[in-house]
Amino acid sequence: MPTTWQIGDIKVSQILEMPVEPGELDGLIEEATPEAVRSVEWLYPNYANDAGQTLWSLHAYVVETPTHRVLVDAGCGNHKTVPLLPNWGGLDNPFLERLAEAGYQPEDIDYVLATHLHLDHVGWNTVLDGDKWRPTFPNARYTYVRDEFDYHRGLEEGAAATDDLAHAVVYQGADPDIHSQTRLVFAESIQPCVDAGLVDLVDSNHEVTPGVRYTATPGHTTGHHSVTVESQGRIGLVTGDFIHHPIQIARPAWSSRGDSDRAQSAETRTAFLRAVAGSETLVLGTHFSGPSGGHIVPDGDGYRFLPTES
Ligand SMILES: [Zn+2]
Repeated sequence: MPTTWQIGDIKVSQILEMPVEPGELDGLIEEATPEAVRSVEWLYPNYANDAGQTLWSLHAYVVETPTHRVLVDAGCGNHKTVPLLPNWGGLDNPFLERLAEAGYQPEDIDYVLATHLHLDHVGWNTVLDGDKWRPTFPNARYTYVRDEFDYHRGLEEGAAATDDLAHAVVYQGADPDIHSQTRLVFAESIQPCVDAGLVDLVDSNHEVTPGVRYTATPGHTTGHHSVTVESQGRIGLVTGDFIHHPIQIARPAWSSRGDSDRAQSAETRTAFLRAVAGSETLVLGTHFSGPSGGHIVPDGDGYRFLPTES
């Protein structure tokens, strides 16, 4: 059964897509050398291994309110074309089976949200049906922040400058044809939902349904939004990639090479951690391996992540 958390009368379930192979994202956070990773003891064993490598995960969350079921971020998906990160393409993972184990059929999902439109956050938007991509969640409104959508559509159309394109993906790999990768993500995972009339574009900080709202956390992308869940005086937040790895809780100034604006990313992270440290805010990490939900507590010059189950 999936890990779940209760926030007032809202239930959040983690749906695993797959763990990321150790080493796959080495170097993504430049300062996180093996020595630097080893210096943060609480990362072991869940978020780092003995070799001093950071550990990562690909998963989604279903947020179930008394009235709606909301999928937050949609992983890499199966059978996608991902020349930029070949290990994340052509997948065949039992994500929908795990969704069913958690109690949800694709037809049950009312909203699909994305913290941002990178390839590992929109993949399960669609499934391959014969030789065509069709929306996985036929009854859902795919609800995206307009600025984020327009930026990626601009990249897809080739309107943006080449410098911007360098940041358009999760990670600048060895031989990135970023333009064609962005086009592929749009064609396979986003356009079919647009064509089916299922996409709604909303303003920054939009309330999706009572208790669930987008919250601007810029830096990884300009339009990046986390998702705040609030009920009966309790509060939680699904991070997306503004906290890419828990080591950034210990070292908030360390940004990711995938961030489009590293200074902005550090600023957003630092302000957030300062605001929630020592509070009851449940932080749900989007790429945290092992226990992915927990609280932030002050720890030396930085903070520490205290995982909590349920
Ligand atoms: Zn990501």
